[in-house]
Amino acid sequence: MVSEHASPLATLGGVDAGGQNVHVAALAAALARRGHDVTVYTRRDDASLPRWVAMGERVRVVHVDAGPAERIPKDDLLPYMGELADGIAADWKRGRPDVVHSHFWMSGIAALDAARRFDPAVPVVHTFHALGNVKRRHQGSQDTSPEERSELEPWVGRTVDRVVATCSDEAFELRALGVPRQKISVAPCGVDLDLFTPTGPREARSARYRVASIGRMVPRKGVELVVRAIAQLVDAGRDDVELLIVGGQPDDSGHDPEADRIAALARELGIADRVVFRGQVPQAELPTVLRSVDAVVCAPWYEPFGIVPLEAMACGVPVVAASVGGLIDTVVHGKTGLHVPPRDPGAIAEALEQLFEDPERARAFGRAGRQRARARYSWDRIAADTERFYLETLEQSGLTADEASGPADGTLATVTRLQTAQGAAR
Ligand code: UDP
Repeated sequence: MVSEHASPLATLGGVDAGGQNVHVAALAAALARRGHDVTVYTRRDDASLPRWVAMGERVRVVHVDAGPAERIPKDDLLPYMGELADGIAADWKRGRPDVVHSHFWMSGIAALDAARRFDPAVPVVHTFHALGNVKRRHQGSQDTSPEERSELEPWVGRTVDRVVATCSDEAFELRALGVPRQKISVAPCGVDLDLFTPTGPREARSARYRVASIGRMVPRKGVELVVRAIAQLVDAGRDDVELLIVGGQPDDSGHDPEADRIAALARELGIADRVVFRGQVPQAELPTVLRSVDAVVCAPWYEPFGIVPLEAMACGVPVVAASVGGLIDTVVHGKTGLHVPPRDPGAIAEALEQLFEDPERARAFGRAGRQRARARYSWDRIAADTERFYLETLEQSGLTADEASGPADGTLATVTRLQTAQGAAR
């Protein structure tokens, strides 16, 4: 796998560390459980990082030198993709993989570059995680993506062997970008069902009702909308509700401008005493937080996938979700939570009020959420689907895994052999 900015080893909740990091880490681990050897290439963003780190038994994370060994915003990384490709290709000289799965458009460029230095080329499967044209649509001039993205991102989509979209909405967007239908498969993100469970320790709360907003502290995640919704509830007479805001990370100067902006808004709206800023919470501690809340609100302007609602559902917590992107697929309105129109604090307040007033229904949403998460979103299931896409891609590229793999025999080769043997036996 190639994940240029999002290391599976990173701390989550910062500006550029969220769902992609979780996705890459969990998918790599789940593929390893199926017997595959996985190497994740990511950019070295700290000089003290070792060249490679073992992440579980069959997963290794390789830190590739590409640009300065320091934290750089992801939107500034394009100039270093050639160097990243050099590092990846050099590693592959010792054993090329059966398939490379790149994550985010810039990784796609590095993966294609490295893959084409081999004959036959290494097949490339790609997951975008976010699309520049959608970002531009919603963020306008605030979008800091490099200009080149508008050309290079669709090029990656058209050039790779297969694109794995994470939700149906993304599949439509990809078609509009000119990615041929037959190249697109859908596999959602998953959730760690052993960690995120309804039973276990839960934090104490300091108000009768507790609502949480969890995620990276960036405007498009819509934390502001949740604060405004709580203010509306308080204005309407609810004095028994608190809002927990999880996520955000101070920059090098010790400030988190977005958290400061949200805190100022809460003060302005007169609800500062009802809002708790928790900053980054490690994944391992999130279930304890989630079990303590009546509802999680996910109110992004847009959302390529959104793992947080799944984590809430897996803990049996109802979700109030804006009807955008991946949330359209994951949260079922009237069954596991309530959908609200995007950018509508009034609708969020109304949905929360419904949940508070009918705790029986809210509990039923929680139970159904857990069931849905278990039935559809285990990483094992998603890894099995992804493995099938890898094998189909190999087949379509005319390679068997045996031919694709170099001296270090990949496990996909073994899977292909097993499947062939099973087919013959049948
Ligand atoms: N997360 C976390 N601690 C935090 C904030 C976020 O562990 O303080 C995790 C969260 O649990 C989820 C991921 O970061 O697994 C965010 O993924 P999501 O897909 O919801 O949003 P993205 O960051 O990809 O936009």
